[in-house]
Amino acid sequence: MGKERKKQYSRLRSDTGHHHRIMAVMAALGVAAFIPVGCRLYQLMVTQYDYYSSLALRNQTRTTKVSADRGDIYDRNMNILATSIGVENIYLDPHELKQAGEDLEDIAQTLGRILEKDPQWILEQAGDLTKRYKQVGSKVSEETAAEIRAYINEHDISGIHLEPNTQRVYPYGTLAAQVIGFTNDSGTGCEGIEASYNSFLEGTAGKVITSKGNNEMDMPFSYEAYISSTEGSSLILTLDATVQACLENRMEEAIAKFDVLNGAFGLVMNCKTGEILAMATLGSFDPNNYLEIYNEETQAQLEQMKLQYLLSPTDSEAYTAGKTAYQEALTAARLKQWRNRVISDGYEPGSTFKVLTMAAALDCGAIDLNTSFHCSGAEQIPGRSQLLHCWRSAGHGAEQTPQALQNSCNIAFAHIALKLGGERFYEYIEQFGIREKTGIDLAGESKGVFFDKSLITDTDKWGTASLTSGSFGQTFKITPLQLVRAIASVVNGGNLLEPYLVSEIVDAEGNTILKQEPTVVRRTISEETSRTMRGLIESVVTDGTAKNAQVAGFAIGGKTGTSEKIDVFDENGNRVLDKIVSFVGIAPMSDPEYIVLVALDTPSRETGLYISGGVMAAPTVGAVLSDILPYLGVEKTEQEETVLLEDLTGLSRSEAEKILNEQSLTAQFVGEGENVTGQIPAAGTRIPGGSQVLLYLGTETNDKGEIHETQ
Ligand SMILES: [Zn+2]
Repeated sequence: MGKERKKQYSRLRSDTGHHHRIMAVMAALGVAAFIPVGCRLYQLMVTQYDYYSSLALRNQTRTTKVSADRGDIYDRNMNILATSIGVENIYLDPHELKQAGEDLEDIAQTLGRILEKDPQWILEQAGDLTKRYKQVGSKVSEETAAEIRAYINEHDISGIHLEPNTQRVYPYGTLAAQVIGFTNDSGTGCEGIEASYNSFLEGTAGKVITSKGNNEMDMPFSYEAYISSTEGSSLILTLDATVQACLENRMEEAIAKFDVLNGAFGLVMNCKTGEILAMATLGSFDPNNYLEIYNEETQAQLEQMKLQYLLSPTDSEAYTAGKTAYQEALTAARLKQWRNRVISDGYEPGSTFKVLTMAAALDCGAIDLNTSFHCSGAEQIPGRSQLLHCWRSAGHGAEQTPQALQNSCNIAFAHIALKLGGERFYEYIEQFGIREKTGIDLAGESKGVFFDKSLITDTDKWGTASLTSGSFGQTFKITPLQLVRAIASVVNGGNLLEPYLVSEIVDAEGNTILKQEPTVVRRTISEETSRTMRGLIESVVTDGTAKNAQVAGFAIGGKTGTSEKIDVFDENGNRVLDKIVSFVGIAPMSDPEYIVLVALDTPSRETGLYISGGVMAAPTVGAVLSDILPYLGVEKTEQEETVLLEDLTGLSRSEAEKILNEQSLTAQFVGEGENVTGQIPAAGTRIPGGSQVLLYLGTETNDKGEIHETQ
């Protein structure tokens, strides 16, 4: 990684014209004393342009920051997620231009054309003798800078200066934007990994200290100290750009399909190590232009607000108030799009939480697999004032423990919680890390909002209500990451892990200075309970509410969740029954490696679909798993159902397609014509359900077909 940058440097250094100009800038700014360390000058980034006008007289020395080169951020396969490229700032020195008698009109025309700026404006800058330097170009590409340099050299112009700078770039744009974060204009990490690991990435800035005379000008040769900068380290993340893209694409699809009004969030974690392979919050933003608002609706509203105050006279109250309101709204919109909901926002997990309640009850022996329940759709629980309803109003009838989870039955879970009792429920909640931050290496993590212990153990007051509602994931909020790591411990043998995003820190010379190893925080449940829970969770997908998550050939397990948002009100103060639907999927169940959560915030009621985790989130997670499991090298553990292929030759296009579709196969037509003249595979072959069959039409020969297995 250092190599690329070194190449960049040597290219800069070999450009003597460029070097000369930097020297000129440095000299003018008073750092001429450092010519002996000239080989490092290309790294100098002088930040105090207004030094001459602003520096206080009493300071007898001046410190110029020499920033270090910021490290890169890579995904686990060394794809570059964030890097810095060389750019240049362009300055005019009006005094120098005047002294040298340069043709200002020509300079304005030429720079205006190259920098795509108004020549008249450049002319004004060139003639402004009140300032020592006037910046006319900011962070221009090296190609543009080279064009300006050629112009300077050709006409031997004095008074145009170029200063090297760096620009942070994010080659994948919006991908994992809230995780990676961005740097601000002065190159400091804001948000995400850029912020959390800023001290590693930025390296150590160097310093140039110069003494000054009474005339405020530097006295270059009288005193100077140089503290060299150290290049920043690079980070290798646990993130996998491909898995991240799969997760984001499937979430985008779900948002479009179910007309989801308030975005979505999700993640993919390795259940055994706590490595985060993907973490997404949609709608997103592009860190290359992080100040821009990407939600079109919000953007339009902001435009409207801006137009309105601009219509008022600038000295009016309406203008001031409107402008303030606009700026506040703009800030809020930016903070919203930068927010990583997976770690920062609590939500009601709903029924996905039942996995934890059941694991706790099984682990301490409050229930076993044969414990019986009866659901009549609603029940008056002693100590709970409100009638408890099951989501299925007709009731689930007689159930045992496995069916309670498969049916996601609220009545059965209320009884499981009562058998468990408030004290033990609370103990397990703490074991599962529900009352603490996960410790992920990202700033801005929240720990959600859970009941105080007394509220759940005191059966005289609200205890029974809190305990029963709590057992199925309602009336409290936790972060998606808290939920996922707790469920991971349920299926991985009982180990609560510390999730992490940075696996390795490598210094500029390529030495590993930190390697993150998986960390087990504590045990939550026994190995045996974990094994039992794996079987139960798998049965939810094969027999229960999550059939839509099935992935051909892979044994996957999971749990649906649908929860009402408890704190959304309309303008009249009435609670709005907006819902967050979610699904937590795990694969492969025989030996769980990956856990995936997708939550869709407020699917529109207009689509006519039943709003639930089973209908909306489960197929989304199923699609993510079918994308990533083969890519991640997870071997298929289950035999797929096979279909005996009929002879389709001689049939019409539509007849053949109809027959294939009835057998859950798909047709891919090759060539032009009305009738099927050939097929691959041949009639009499057994092929996996869901496969694609090539059907040849007309005179097309069938010499290069192959089976495309669809997952
Ligand atoms: Zn029920």
